[in-house]
Amino acid sequence: MPAIRILPDFVANQIAAGEVIERPAAVVKELVENSLDAGASRIEIEFRSGGKNLIRVEDNGYGMSPDDALLSLERHGTSKIREAGDLLKIGTYGFRGEALPSIASVSRFTLRTRTENQPHGTEIFINGGKMVHSKECGMPGGTHIEVAHLFHTVPARRKFLKTDNTEAAHIVHLSRLFAVANPQTSFNLLENGRALFRSPVCQSLRERVGEIFGRQIAGQLIEIDAEADGFKLTGLIGKPGVGRATRHELVTYVNRRPVDSRLLNFALIEAYHTYIPKGRYPLAFVFLEMDPGTVDVNVHPAKREVRFREEGKLRHFLIRAVLDRLREASPPPPEGNSSRRPIPALEIPKPRFAPAPIEGNSRVLTRVSRVPEKPFAEKSLVAPTPAKPDEGREDSTEKATTTGEGRLSWRYLGMAHGASAVFETETGIVLLHWRGARARILYEEILAQSENKSQASQKLLFPIPMELDALAATALEEHLDFFRNNGFDIEKFGRNYYRIEALPEWLDPGQGEGFARDLLSLLRERGLNPNRPTPAREEIARLAAGRIAKTSRPPDKEEIIRLANRLMACQNPLNDPRGRPTFFEISRGDLEKKFGK
Ligand code: ADP
Ligand code: MG
Repeated sequence: MPAIRILPDFVANQIAAGEVIERPAAVVKELVENSLDAGASRIEIEFRSGGKNLIRVEDNGYGMSPDDALLSLERHGTSKIREAGDLLKIGTYGFRGEALPSIASVSRFTLRTRTENQPHGTEIFINGGKMVHSKECGMPGGTHIEVAHLFHTVPARRKFLKTDNTEAAHIVHLSRLFAVANPQTSFNLLENGRALFRSPVCQSLRERVGEIFGRQIAGQLIEIDAEADGFKLTGLIGKPGVGRATRHELVTYVNRRPVDSRLLNFALIEAYHTYIPKGRYPLAFVFLEMDPGTVDVNVHPAKREVRFREEGKLRHFLIRAVLDRLREASPPPPEGNSSRRPIPALEIPKPRFAPAPIEGNSRVLTRVSRVPEKPFAEKSLVAPTPAKPDEGREDSTEKATTTGEGRLSWRYLGMAHGASAVFETETGIVLLHWRGARARILYEEILAQSENKSQASQKLLFPIPMELDALAATALEEHLDFFRNNGFDIEKFGRNYYRIEALPEWLDPGQGEGFARDLLSLLRERGLNPNRPTPAREEIARLAAGRIAKTSRPPDKEEIIRLANRLMACQNPLNDPRGRPTFFEISRGDLEKKFGK
C-alpha cells in the first residue's frame, strides 16, 4: 500500500498554479492587483510573446522588507487577512497568499522590492519553485517583478496556450479594465518595448476612459449614479442611440473588481432594448457596489465570474437605474407624437448600386418559377429567377402569363407592429419581415459587387477622421491590405489617428466610420481570416446589410411591394443574411382549421 506523505511545497505550488494561473493574463492580473493593494500610484506592465516569454510589472507602492519579501513567496503568505472572519470584509484584491508562490513555481521569477525606510532593496530569484538566490540590490521604492518563460516547468500546460496574439489580447483587455477602475494610478502598457497605452494619473473616470478607449468614445457617454435596495451603481454609460458591434466596451465591476457576469451584461443589454438597434451592445463602464457578504467574486480564483445572493433584486435595480437615466437623457418626443421609441430612427442611407428591376407598381406581385426549398405550402410559391435588367421593366403580369407557370399573386394588406408586412395570397396569408428582406437584398447585391471584383471605391470629398485606441489601431494596421482590397482607403496621420479617404461605393459616407469600426471589432473578435477571401467578404456584406437594414426607415406601401419583388429575385429569398426567415405563410387550410371550419 502506498504510504501517505505531505507534498513538498513546490509541488503543492505547481498544483495551485494550475488553478490560479490559467494563462499569462492571469499572472498580470495577480501582479497588478498586488501593486494596487500596495497603494501604487504608478504601474507599468510589459510583456513579450503574448506574455509567454516575459511579463514584467513594476510599481511604486509600499514595497516589502527583506523578511516580508521571503515570506511573500511562502504558500499562504499574505499580509491581507489574519483570520477567516476577515474574508467577509476584504478591502484588498488579494487575500489567499497563493499567487506569488504559484507563479514562481512555474517560471523564472525575479522579485525586486524596497520599502521607503530600507537602505537598499532585496532581490530574490526563483527558478521553477527553487530559490536560486536572495541578495541586496539597488532599487527605488516599490516592487518590480519579472516572470520569464512561464510554464517552462510544465511543458504540457504551455501547449495549451493560444497564439501570442490571443494571449496578448487577453493581457491588454485585462490591463484596460484595471486602468479604467483606477484613474488615480498612472498606467503604462508595453508590448515588446512598444507602448500600447500610457495614461497619466487622471482626474476622472471619463478622462481615463478617453485615454484608454479613445476620446470619441468618452464623448458618447453619460454619467450614472443610482442607489437603492443596498445596491449602488456609478460610472458612465452610452448615450441613448449609441451601440457597438461587440461587447469590448461593455465593462462592469463589482466592488471594484472587474467581472464578467451574464446577469450584469444581460440586465444592461435589456435596459438598452429600445435605445439601440437589436443585435448591438451598449457601451458601459459601470461600478456596482454592494455588501461584500452578498456576493462571491471568487467563485474561481482565475476567472472573473461572480455569484450574487439576490439575483432578481439586483437585476431589477440595474434595469431601473439604467432606464431612468436613459429616459432622462433622451430628447423629449416631438409634440403630439406619442412614439414609445425615444430615439428617432437613423436616416436610411440610400444604397449606391443600381436598384434591381422593379416590376411595375401594381399591387399584384407575380412570380414565375419555384424556389428550391419551400418553407410552406407547396404550390404557393414563387419565383426567384433573377430578372435580367431589361426584362424588369416589362409589365409583370404579362411576364407571368407568358411564362405561364406557377403564377402567384400577393396583395398587400398592411403593416403589423411596424415589423411585418402582411399580404394576402391565393393560398393564404404571408407575413414578411421587411428588415430581414431588405438585409437579404442588400447582402446579395454587395456580395455580387465584390465578387465581380468591381470593388468600386468612392473618393470622399471630406475625408473622415477616426481616432482609435491603441489595440484597434494595431488591428487596423495588421489588416490595412484587407481594407484596401475591400474598397477602403485609410491613411494614418498621427499616433492612433487615421483618415478614411475612400469607401466602398455601396457604403453611405455617413456610415463610413461606424462601419469601419464595426469591421475592425469583428476582425479582432472573430479573427476573420483575410486570407480566405470568401467568408471575409460574406462577413462584410452581412455586416453592411444588417447595419443598413437596421437603421432603415419603415417602407411605405410602394416600397414594400418593390421590396417583396426584389426579395423574390434573390438567390435565397427565404432567409436573411444571418439565416433567419424573411417571410412565412399561413395557409388557408390552417386558417380554416383555426376557426374550426
Ligand atoms: P495575496 O495578494 O493573496 O496576499 P500574493 O501571493 O499575491 O497573496 O502576495 C503575497 C503577499 O506579498 C501580499 O500579501 C503582500 O503582502 C506581498 N506583496 C505581493 N506583491 C506586492 C507588491 N507589489 N508590493 C508590496 N507587497 C506585495
Ligand atoms: Mg495577490
